[in-house]
Amino acid sequence: PFRAIRVTKDEQGQQHAGIETVDESALADGNVTVSVEYSTVNYKDGLAIGGGHIVKSFPLTPGIDFAGTVDASDHPDFAPGDRVVLNGWGFGEKYDGGFAQKARVDGDLLVRLPQGLTTREAAAIGTAGYTAMLSVLALEDAGVTKDSGEVLVTGAAGGVGSVAITLLARQGHHVIASTGRQSEADYLRGLGAAEIIDRAELSSPGKPLARERWAAAVDSVGSHTLVNVLAATRYGGTVTSCGLAQGMDLPGTVAPFILRGVTLAGIDSVHAPMERRIRAYERLAEELDAAKLAEMVTVIGLDSVVEVAGKILEGQVRGRTIVDVNA
Ligand code: NAP
Repeated sequence: PFRAIRVTKDEQGQQHAGIETVDESALADGNVTVSVEYSTVNYKDGLAIGGGHIVKSFPLTPGIDFAGTVDASDHPDFAPGDRVVLNGWGFGEKYDGGFAQKARVDGDLLVRLPQGLTTREAAAIGTAGYTAMLSVLALEDAGVTKDSGEVLVTGAAGGVGSVAITLLARQGHHVIASTGRQSEADYLRGLGAAEIIDRAELSSPGKPLARERWAAAVDSVGSHTLVNVLAATRYGGTVTSCGLAQGMDLPGTVAPFILRGVTLAGIDSVHAPMERRIRAYERLAEELDAAKLAEMVTVIGLDSVVEVAGKILEGQVRGRTIVDVNA
């Protein structure tokens, strides 16, 4: 038996989350069994535990990602002892996810950890950090270079934002961090932000076009913020959209697209193809400064996950939260 967080639904339709002891016979079908070492708390995990219509079948183990070591494998590419990471694919939503000491999955969905990346570092990156890398890759594919001009990162002190700042600063970009938490200014400068702006500048309805301020942006906030980010993007610039911390809506106009040739690039980590995942992890292993990554991290045990899930929905979590499932 092993420990896991389970989300259940009662007869009144109310969701509950708590730690249970689960028998190995309850593991899902799959050809690779993993001893999970770390999972992480992402915004979506907050929604899953907080009843945000993420969990599609009950009971379910939430946790959209995990890193660990292969225990047993019938998959040709994996053998016991291999270190692996899993992100998305519906784990922690439709299938039992990472807030457990064991998981069984289809090996086709696992990424082998690149040399030099520990399971703990992979968890520090987590889905938020891997999504930040996907966003950076999308800017590169659009031709954004360090000579293009300033790059804005919204939701700066959150998980996606913190990793995006670190990656972009290391590549030599002048990074502008937009945050609602001025108390995190030193933290953001430490990650490499050159300038900090108050997110209130971007969060209310604005004009279709504004003064051109940045060449590119990584947005994890959506809603009015993304509309205003697009409106202030320089001619020919690119903005990535991966999140909805402010809202799912996009209450804007096409003006930035048709008058300034701005590109909006969508980022999905959940069903990203395997080649893209492997490329993202290789780049993370090469480029993400381990000391800066360590600054972003808070480690908790399974016992604290439900509490932190509530905090992330309130925008109160800084950087990345790792869950040591054996703590
Ligand atoms: P997170 O750690 O909670 O970061 C979100 C940040 O957004 C917060 O720290 C806060 O930063 C800011 N924020 C929160 N509420 C806001 C509001 N009402 N208005 C403006 N800004 C607000 O979450 P995360 O794990 O980084 O995820 C960020 C977003 O990306 C989420 O919506 C998540 O679902 C999405 N996401 C999508 C994918 C994908 O595959 N597309 C993958 C990963 C994450 P400040 O305090 O610095 O302002």
